[in-house]
Amino acid sequence: MSEVLGVAGLARSFTQGGRTIHVLRGIDLAVQPGEIVALLGPSGSGKSTLLQAVGLLEGGFEGRIRIAGEEAARLDDNGRTRLRREALGFVYQFHHLLPDFTAEENVTLPQLIRGRDPAEAEQRARTLLTALGLDHRLDHRPAQLSGGEQQRVAVARALANRPALVLADEPTGNLDEATSERVLDAFLDLVRGQGAAALVATHNERLAARMDRVVRLHEGKLDDTNCY
Ligand code: ADP
Ligand code: MG
Repeated sequence: MSEVLGVAGLARSFTQGGRTIHVLRGIDLAVQPGEIVALLGPSGSGKSTLLQAVGLLEGGFEGRIRIAGEEAARLDDNGRTRLRREALGFVYQFHHLLPDFTAEENVTLPQLIRGRDPAEAEQRARTLLTALGLDHRLDHRPAQLSGGEQQRVAVARALANRPALVLADEPTGNLDEATSERVLDAFLDLVRGQGAAALVATHNERLAARMDRVVRLHEGKLDDTNCY
């Protein structure tokens, strides 16, 4: 089976006030279908920078990114938007749910944007939210949910369109430790159940150890030593 994500020689630097910092210095990474990879590194090590590049959210990097068999550099803006919608799901540290919509609507909307039949989209939203233990919260708006519940809705939304690869940037970073573990377990169960792959940035060794593989970001490179 061919990889769902292939990154080769990825480099990114930022220049500010005449000073250049080299955040990513040649990243090579392959993620196989269904594989859940922890991207471990301390704050400031470049995890978000790497995920933004892989998420095709930012230009300005050198190197190659291939997602679901498509070379990002060969695509124009429209092509990148299409690939992002077709192949990727995103979970951020803060949920970014639409405040005026219910949990169910927040998970339904991205499917409608993809042209899915509304009744099917609602059914899938309910199925995903129920799998995450939120069947009693379908009609609640984000402000009526706890932080852990909000992140679960964000997880359901990320999986709504059956992405091959979920990118998660410290998805439980805003939660207390106990909630964090429960939300991460729910996330991992759902991603595995859907057969998706995931690249999950975290600075927490214990959370990283729950994933299939750990890669460490260190001085702009990945240490793929797998020893945790
Ligand atoms: P992490 O997510 O691991 O905490 P980041 O990827 O956010 O790390 O940041 C890595 C480094 O790159 C930091 O030193 C940060 O200040 C710098 N950086 C990130 N984005 C920018 C930007 N847009 N402009 C300048 N520096 C940036
Ligand atoms: Mg970050």
